[in-house]
Amino acid sequence: MAKYNRIVLKVSGEALAGETGFGINPPVITDVAKEIKDVHDQGIQIAVVCGGGNMWRGQTGAELGMERAQADYMGMLATVMNALALQDSLESIGVPTRVQTSIEMRQIAEPYIRRKAVRHLEKGRVVIFAAGTGNPYFSTDTTAALRAAEINADAILMGKNGVDGVYSADPAKDDKAVKFETLTHLDVITKGLKIMDTTASSLSMDNDIPLVVFNLNKPGNIKRVVMGEKVGTTIEG
Ligand code: UDP
Repeated sequence: MAKYNRIVLKVSGEALAGETGFGINPPVITDVAKEIKDVHDQGIQIAVVCGGGNMWRGQTGAELGMERAQADYMGMLATVMNALALQDSLESIGVPTRVQTSIEMRQIAEPYIRRKAVRHLEKGRVVIFAAGTGNPYFSTDTTAALRAAEINADAILMGKNGVDGVYSADPAKDDKAVKFETLTHLDVITKGLKIMDTTASSLSMDNDIPLVVFNLNKPGNIKRVVMGEKVGTTIEG
């Protein structure tokens, strides 16, 4: 018996970029796709929210003098490229998918329609949510929290690159950093832990959505989390 039967998996842009942290790296995406397939084969309903930080972040544009909203729309477009790349990988290994975008692009994806997304999940399709919330000033972490609430997901799974959970400090820089086994969303906000932005944390808190932060680079980890094994850090309440 799985612990979580319907999940939102947040895949940051970084997770699709590989070592360089920039651009799209098809072999890396194939690895992520295989991990997703493994869980899909167990009959778990999976919605994926793609980030876009491997190509563009609105904040960077704003720091360089662009209007923030304009730069954010560019960031949302970056997430669509990632979503299409992930769709390609998943379909090539036999996983049926649908991409839904929060900004209409009918030639390449369906527009986001909540009831349709749920129907796809029930029919065993992996739904990939792209273009964030469709609004500037938000993040794809907030998108994950929002979509998880909308589709009644059991949990948000946040795969990190090489870090196996939430630490009191950056474990790469501070050898006294300790890993938290469990936290509450309020802890994340009050301790200023940099897991997701506070909008995403407060939305998850208000809607009682558990979040599991784990190492996406370790094969089998998505499945472990879904089956309820103690992996990473669980944030609830
Ligand atoms: N973005 C946005 N609204 C949203 C989601 C994303 O404006 O609802 C923009 C924002 O500029 C962000 C970029 O898209 O910097 C890429 O998303 P994010 O930084 O969340 O990607 P990740 O860090 O997960 O790769």
